[in-house]
Amino acid sequence: MRDFENDRGSMLFGGLRAEDIAERFGTPVYVTDEDILRGNYRRIYNAFAKHMDTRVYYACKANTSMALLRILEQEGSYVDTVSIGEIATCMKVGFPVSRIMYTGTSVSTSELRDVLNTGVMVNIDSPSEMERLAEIDGNAKISVRITPGIGAGHCDKVVTGSKGSKFGIPLDSAVDIYGRALELGLRPIGIHVHIGSGGSDPMNALSNAVSVLTDLTNDIKDVHGLDLEFINMGGGFEVPYKPNEPEMDIEELASVVTDMILNDTSVRTIALEPGRYVVCDSTILLTRCVDVKRAGGKNYIGVDAGFNTLIRPTFYDSYHHVAIANKFNKACEGKYDVVGPICESGDYLARDRALPTPEEGDVVAVYNCGAYAFSMSSTYNSRPRCREVLMHDGKAELIREAETLEDLWRYQMIPERLVE
Ligand SMILES: *Cc1c(COP(=O)(O)O)cnc(C)c1O
Repeated sequence: MRDFENDRGSMLFGGLRAEDIAERFGTPVYVTDEDILRGNYRRIYNAFAKHMDTRVYYACKANTSMALLRILEQEGSYVDTVSIGEIATCMKVGFPVSRIMYTGTSVSTSELRDVLNTGVMVNIDSPSEMERLAEIDGNAKISVRITPGIGAGHCDKVVTGSKGSKFGIPLDSAVDIYGRALELGLRPIGIHVHIGSGGSDPMNALSNAVSVLTDLTNDIKDVHGLDLEFINMGGGFEVPYKPNEPEMDIEELASVVTDMILNDTSVRTIALEPGRYVVCDSTILLTRCVDVKRAGGKNYIGVDAGFNTLIRPTFYDSYHHVAIANKFNKACEGKYDVVGPICESGDYLARDRALPTPEEGDVVAVYNCGAYAFSMSSTYNSRPRCREVLMHDGKAELIREAETLEDLWRYQMIPERLVE
């Protein structure tokens, strides 16, 4: 897990004391360090690119903040999108359509039409989707998502590649669907898997998934005489969330899978779709302690961010490291649950954590909040979404204003007859 420097008892983030960032922008607030974001992108791109032609499709559902997307566009990243909204956002920030892929699931014909209108390449998720796509654009370039029968994930909700999954084309019909694509006049140029997010042995799961694709690529060539241009190994590159958890050896993984592709197939381009890996540890959430309570033998730190702001602990039982930013070098003296303002008992950010004695007014930093954090936030309990800040060169810039009460009401209307 990436940790941060200590400046006279305060956590330093992007060159400023976290408590000063919280003071200036209010809490809760998401804060991203631009250098870490760029570093993560470069690390994963370079690991693969030194072996073969590489396209990193940042899976933008992890974080669609436009300033972050701009930074990744500057880095030369491609993007993987799952909705017309994500495509539109990526185009708005300047991604050329040639660097955008669409990997939808349960795709409606109207969305498919909108996607094809933009010119973005579609990664096919089902036979029906492919038939409907061919009716709209009979010679589109496509890729096909295969379910390799290998799943991986930090919890059941995020496993996507196992047999019987709702995602992709089952392995046993994979070769046939390329035949059908050719019959329809389509131009299949890629093959794809995404097995899930996280999991206990991602190295093994990811390299096994690629070996399924290299075999299929050769079968497709044998049966249909078709040479694919790229193999897309999907995302799911693990990031450590706990203090002593080891980092995934991305260099080793890149070397193993590129070897397999270069030695076993005639494909010369690899695509990957890291979401979490690129953004996760670039961002912290700062939230203020507003209430300290003891109840039933438990110590609670009540903060101003709940599962409306960060849902992963509640939804997935995810671990996020927490620290009291303004007591960064103080000894831990007790165990605490960090809980939010949402009126449900499942509303917590951290459980049973050794922390220094908290006081109201302290600033709690929640680590690894770049991925699936702001993008999964909501206005539940009628709490407007919070601000986002970007750190660069020791300076903080606002990249998203907090929503207001007006925003909660904006799209609602009360029928005239109910108004006296
Ligand atoms: C979510 C998703 C990813 C990214 O997963 P991470 O675990 O964040 O790397 C990649 N590809 C597809 C198709 C996805 O849906």
